[in-house]
This record gives sequence, C-alpha cells and structure tokens, in this order.
Amino acid sequence: MNEVLIIGAGLAGSEAALQLARRSIAVTLCEMRPGKLTPAHRTGLCAELVCSNSLKSQEPTTAAGTLKAELDLLGSCLLPIARAHAVAAGSALAVDRDAFSAAVTDAIAAEPLITREQREVRELDPAQPTIIAAGPLATGALSEALCQVVGADSLAFYDAAAPIVSAESLDMDRLFAASRRGKGSADYLNSALDKPEYERFYEELVTAQRVVLRDFERRELFAACQPVEEVARTGPDALRFGALKPVGIDDPRTGRWPYALVQLRAENAERSAYNLVGFQTNLTFPEQRRVFSLLPGLEHAEFLRYGVMHRNTFLDAPRVLAPDLCLKRSPQLSVAGQLMGTEGYLEAVSGGLLAALMMAARTGGQQAPPLPPCTTTLGALFRYATDPATTGYQPMHVNYGLIEPLATRQRNKQERYRLYHERALQAMAQWRADQRELF
Ligand SMILES: Cc1cc2nc3c(=O)[nH]c(=O)nc-3n(C[C@H](O)[C@H](O)[C@H](O)COP(=O)(O)OP(=O)(O)OC[C@H]3O[C@@H](n4cnc5c(N)ncnc54)[C@H](O)[C@@H]3O)c2cc1C
Repeated sequence: MNEVLIIGAGLAGSEAALQLARRSIAVTLCEMRPGKLTPAHRTGLCAELVCSNSLKSQEPTTAAGTLKAELDLLGSCLLPIARAHAVAAGSALAVDRDAFSAAVTDAIAAEPLITREQREVRELDPAQPTIIAAGPLATGALSEALCQVVGADSLAFYDAAAPIVSAESLDMDRLFAASRRGKGSADYLNSALDKPEYERFYEELVTAQRVVLRDFERRELFAACQPVEEVARTGPDALRFGALKPVGIDDPRTGRWPYALVQLRAENAERSAYNLVGFQTNLTFPEQRRVFSLLPGLEHAEFLRYGVMHRNTFLDAPRVLAPDLCLKRSPQLSVAGQLMGTEGYLEAVSGGLLAALMMAARTGGQQAPPLPPCTTTLGALFRYATDPATTGYQPMHVNYGLIEPLATRQRNKQERYRLYHERALQAMAQWRADQRELF
C-alpha cells in the first residue's frame, strides 16, 4: 500500500502530492477526470483552473501578495509553475491556463513517488492516511462517504455568504451598538434607515446587476437560502419583515424604532471585521460595493469578502477539523482545498501545502506542527477556519481582516499593509526554522 492517498488532482491535491514526494513519501493520487468530469472542469489535466485565470495580486501590500511571499518561503511547488506560465495582467499573477495545468501534470508525471490512478473514489478508509482534496464539486458518492464521518450537518453543498467589511472603514458616528433584535448583550453594530433612505436602497438593490449562474448552480442553489435581492423582489416591504426588521431596537438619534435596520455581526474576537447579517447575495462585486455603500455608516466600507452564492461543497471546518487539518472523528483523514472551506485558487494551493506538511510530520512519526502564527496570512486564514469559536462558517479567502492587528495602531493603510507584510515574512521564516526537520 502506498503511504498516502490523495483524492483529487486539483490545485490542492497536486500541491500536496508534489510536497509529499519531495519529502520521499509515496503517494497515490486518484483523479476521476477525464473519465468523469465535474460540471465545471473540461480536461483531464491536473490543477485545472475552472473559471478565471488569475491567482490574484502580487503586490506585497495586499493579502494575496503576502500569501504568495509566504508560500515562496515554504517552497510551494505550484507557484513557480504559475509564474513560469504567467500572462500579462498588471500586478496580478494570471496564467496561460492550459500551459499551467499541462506543466503541473508533467511535474506530477515526472515524480517517481507519485502513482496516478484515474478513478472516482467513492469510499473512505479510516485506517488509510488520506488527504481529501476533491474540491467544491466533489462527487455525490464521496460527499456521502464524508457525511458518514462528519455527520450530514457538517457538510454544505452551496455557499450563501454575506459580505464582510472592515471595522475601521465603518462610520461609527452613524452606527450604534445594540443587541440582536433587543435580546442579549449589545454585540451588534446597527445601521438605521429612515423611509427615504430605505426606498433608495430598495430601488438600487432590486435593479442591481447579478452574477449569471451556471446551469448546474441554478438547479441546486435556491432551494434553501434566498439572496437578499431575491427576497426584496417579492415586495417593497419584504426586507422590513426579514433581514432589515427594525423591531425592538431604538435608534438613539430618535428614541424610536427606525423604518428599517441592518445589523452587523463581528467576525472575529478582535472585532476588526463585521458581516452584514442576512445579506447573502448574488450581486456582482462592484454592485455590492455600490449598493451596500448606500447603507448609513457603510458609505466608505472596505469589503474584505464579497457575498457569494454558488454550488460549493465544503465542511463546517471550525467544528470538524483539528488545527492539523485532520478530521477530529477520523484522524488519518485530512482535508485540503476548497472542500475544507477556504475560497480561491491560491488558498487551495496553500491548503494542499499545509496539509502535506502536517501529513509528512505524522507519517514520519512526529507530531504535526502547529499552524503558523496569526501574524501570517496563511496562519490567520487556517486558524480562522479551524477555530471552534468561528460561528456560521462560510468559505473564506485570504484577507488582512483576519490577521492579528499591529501592536501599535497605524492609520495610514498602505503603511499598515507594508508592516503586515514585513511582520508576516519574519514570522513565517521563524516558523519554517522551527519546523526545520520538515524542510
Ligand atoms: C464554478 C466555479 C468557479 C470558480 N471560479 C473561481 C475563480 O475564478 N477564482 C478562484 O480563485 N476560485 C474559483 N473557484 C473556486 C475554485 O474551485 C477553487 O478555488 C479551486 O479550484 C479549488 O481547488 P481544489 O483543489 O480544492 O479543488 P479542484 O481544483 O476543484 O480539484 C478537485 C479535484 O477533485 C476531483 N474529484 C472530485 N471528486 C472526486 C472523486 N470522488 N474521486 C476522484 N476525484 C474527484 C475533481 O475532478 C477535481 O479535479 C470556483 C469554483 C467553482 C465551482
């Protein structure tokens, strides 16, 4: 028996396989394509990019740029391949998708310790060290097998994520703290709308541009969770009886219940990021920025994550995953990539790399290393995903809202991001040095 089974040769599975082979660990990499395609993939190549060809910004003062620099420090296998097949895209790292995937496929084929099997994995063996990297479109049989391990409540089949905004971009003179619908402690920020403000917001919301869903998403998406703009379309007052219900909360400026009310819930213990409660949406990203910035107090909101709704199989990671990315209920099975609940290509590569490092430590008889610290983007993203204190988990992409705040407040955003970047690289270099036996 090969030492590690990897299910799925997408971005996470390919990175994980190459990382393990580099550490002299034999891998069986099972990929069902091209014999069986997902609704989004079209080739049999490894690490196929299903939509955009961009792996986001390379600027060091962005979270994606910092993550790339951290991945370089850890020796990512896919990132250099992406750079070798980059196409002109300003400050973003965009690739020639076919050349990139072909080069990843070649790198895997050239690795004698990786055996590729073309088949759909339909069952999980709790005794076999496995990295499950079957992605957001994991097959039904595998999803069912995973449900058997984690419980049906812990696997979701679509995203319904509301936008998240940074606390520092909010106008705290317009917002006020209150409890949820008047119950409990005053943990929520509130944006009160009067009638003209509500009517303007409503008009813009129902006429805003929406993302065109693919066929397979349209079929599966809307059964359980309606986007805020779809609820609004059912009638001008529908939101005032739903997500924007003003009942039980006095606006401190008038001493009365407002006409409509939006509540924002803290995303993390530092309260540096807030999500718009009940605002799962399918508007395009520019339209989310335009329409949601009409809400009082959100005029200059910085969006750390936009709302999304699409077919997406992912785990309730904070409840089922340990920090070493193993399933708490079945520690030989670990999960990487979008299936574990991160969002995006680069994040999938990161998950594959981390899962492989953890797995390499365990197969070598050592304890898996701790996650990198929250001063790194990698550590912050995966800490967020595996912290049991994270509630209402929805897939998350890398962003500076998750990173530990600086010891001293820095008001200038560019300077703050530069400091984040420098601190992250120092911390990652130290983390790597601490795990020297893995490198
Ligand atoms: C329609 C769509 C569009 C997206 N667009 C973007 C985008 O533009 N930018 C972005 O950053 N992210 C995008 N994403 C998110 C994207 O999927 C992830 O960022 C990334 O591809 C996830 O990598 P992964 O390795 O986890 O999964 P994948 O890259 O999907 O790889 C999973 C692999 O597992 C295989 N597989 C599945 N089930 C089985 C099984 N039972 N047995 C064997 N093999 C199996 C699949 O064939 C696939 O090759 C999109 C997702 C979807 C669904």
